[in-house]
Amino acid sequence: MFHTCLPAAARPTTLRAPAAKARRGKRHFTVDIHAHLFSIEADALTKPHFKPSDETFLVFSNEATREVNRKQEARIHDQVRLPEPRLIDMDARGIDIQVISPSPHQYHYWAEPELGRQAAQLCNDRIAEVVGQHPDRFAGLGTVPLQAPEMAIAELERCVKQLGFRGVEIGTNVRGGELSDARLRPFWAKAQELGVLVFMHPAGTTEGRRLAEHYFVNLIGNPLESTLAVSHLIFGGVLDAYPRLKICVAHGGGYLASYPGRFDHAHAARSDCRLLIKKRPSTYLKKLYFDTLVFTPEQLEHLVRLYGSDHVLLGTDYPFDMGDEDPVGFIASATRLTGADRAAIMGLNAAKLLKIRVPMAKKPVRKRGSN
Ligand SMILES: [Zn+2]
Repeated sequence: MFHTCLPAAARPTTLRAPAAKARRGKRHFTVDIHAHLFSIEADALTKPHFKPSDETFLVFSNEATREVNRKQEARIHDQVRLPEPRLIDMDARGIDIQVISPSPHQYHYWAEPELGRQAAQLCNDRIAEVVGQHPDRFAGLGTVPLQAPEMAIAELERCVKQLGFRGVEIGTNVRGGELSDARLRPFWAKAQELGVLVFMHPAGTTEGRRLAEHYFVNLIGNPLESTLAVSHLIFGGVLDAYPRLKICVAHGGGYLASYPGRFDHAHAARSDCRLLIKKRPSTYLKKLYFDTLVFTPEQLEHLVRLYGSDHVLLGTDYPFDMGDEDPVGFIASATRLTGADRAAIMGLNAAKLLKIRVPMAKKPVRKRGSN
């Protein structure tokens, strides 16, 4: 196994976008916060132990969905594994830097702790290897075995201090357990202490009994899971206890942006909704970050109205079919945003959050209304 002692090049302390590769007409520095890499090493390690009943996205699906997914897996086989095809796609889509995180199907939270730890290390070492090959185009987010909080903390520290990652990706529950569980408090404390990003990304839902048809396990299950997970972090007091946590919620935060007033109303109206938090729930929501994967300009503008353009980050879900293949064009289509908003969303927010250096040529254009 190759997963110890990574080269210094795997620690991307500074990143620069290759200006020559910038897409014609694109002016803004662009960072894709939401892109996945599959580890064949972790897959080989875990496959003999895996049972389909361990993964809810497999449990709650039908044959039509499985067939589409099989075809997709064949189509994106190289893109999800290798850096070369993704560099071609990044150039075509105007992405300067891709922040790569594990495939959400490789959290391995179902595994026994030691197997989970080893699988996480293999995923992380593969990401570090790819980042090390192209440190000017990629940055890394790791995975940690949350089923074993002590091991998760150790791997989080390794990701940040040894591999140079900018944070970690986590799921929305741990084998059905909530992220607000007391056992995970030390993990949140460590994430806050290190000041790194936690990218929260669902992988199906535990509550999928009625979601097996029409790929609802993803269409509805994923945004529902993000909504549930963040709501537990808010009402369960985690975001109150760790106010400096940096959390980005995938897929525009799921359904969180659609109905936050109900949370605040309940908090004021009912004592059982404020057992663990004093502030209004929307206070905590506003501290979170959200990616742009919402598909309509109206929804993107709504996210910005609720949370501010400084809390929204370009994300594509590369290379999956539920992603956005023209993220720059999509953000540009939100005509109610200012040029400064777009610059922030396309890359400056991510650069600040992840400590990525913005090349001089891509420094923000101050002119109002520019694209
Ligand atoms: Zn994704």
